[in-house]
Amino acid sequence: MAQHEKITIADLRVDEWNDWCPGCGDYGILSAVQMAMAETGKGINDYAIFSGIGCSGKTSDYINTFGVHNLHGRPIPHATGAKLANPNLEVIVIGGDGDLLSIGAGHFVSAGRRNVDITVIINDNGVYGLTKGQASPTLPRGTRTKALPLPNINDSLNPLALSLASGYTFVARGYAYDIKHLKGLILSAIKHKGSAIVDILQPCPTYNDINTKEYYDERVYKMDENEWDPVVKDPSEEREKFLKAMEKSVEWGDKIPIGIFYQNELVPTYEERLASRIKTYITAPPAKQEISYNGASSAEIKQLLQSRRVV
Ligand code: SF4
Repeated sequence: MAQHEKITIADLRVDEWNDWCPGCGDYGILSAVQMAMAETGKGINDYAIFSGIGCSGKTSDYINTFGVHNLHGRPIPHATGAKLANPNLEVIVIGGDGDLLSIGAGHFVSAGRRNVDITVIINDNGVYGLTKGQASPTLPRGTRTKALPLPNINDSLNPLALSLASGYTFVARGYAYDIKHLKGLILSAIKHKGSAIVDILQPCPTYNDINTKEYYDERVYKMDENEWDPVVKDPSEEREKFLKAMEKSVEWGDKIPIGIFYQNELVPTYEERLASRIKTYITAPPAKQEISYNGASSAEIKQLLQSRRVV
């Protein structure tokens, strides 16, 4: 297959699996990501996937394209670097709420402020599943899942409100067991110009016996596209749509909305901001430049060290 030839879902599958637990929401998310990638019309080499630490971190190993399984909390800075080096890459970050919103929270906020054109997917299950079910940032205070000796002592964090406040210009929530709807959200996030997040309600049947499939099936509803218009089409709409999205983001209880909460492509991306300062950025971003230092290839480390030797 040519490097940039349109891919199918079969092209994105891998043969070797380490597997998640039976019934894990990560399976639905993986399928939705692969379906969305196949629908963009891009090739395998047009993508790069950066995952964090946790059960969801394995996702980059399970998709047949470029990918890095990163240090804990670090997929966003790595992804940002890749995107800025090669703006033609379609860059996707996949991490759990424990990875992206706890140890990685500073990077999460910074990506929103910069409006880097990447897609961030949060596998949001309220627990640290890989380390046996400790409370993670989205588990509400007072909740006691089966792995906790006492109810959670910390307040939970609202990923949608944090994303909006940080400056993300595409903010959505999906559900891991509604794969078709989720695929549509991820596809819209990939196509969006700017930083996009999709927070995904992802049941962890092994450690979270509160936010189960049954719990979400009873509560999750899709926002009516005829009544809910999240897209900012004119700067004068920005404040009103932002405030509406913020208000909608706290709706949680008997009814939990899914869909796109906010979308604004009027904000310049970080790549556009760089291009306004560095004239050659669009035509010759770092990935397209010759790798050399003072005429010597910087890929040849011996030559480089020799040139910097202190005698
Ligand atoms: Fe999925 Fe939970 Fe098992 Fe991890 S521990 S693979 S999140 S079900």
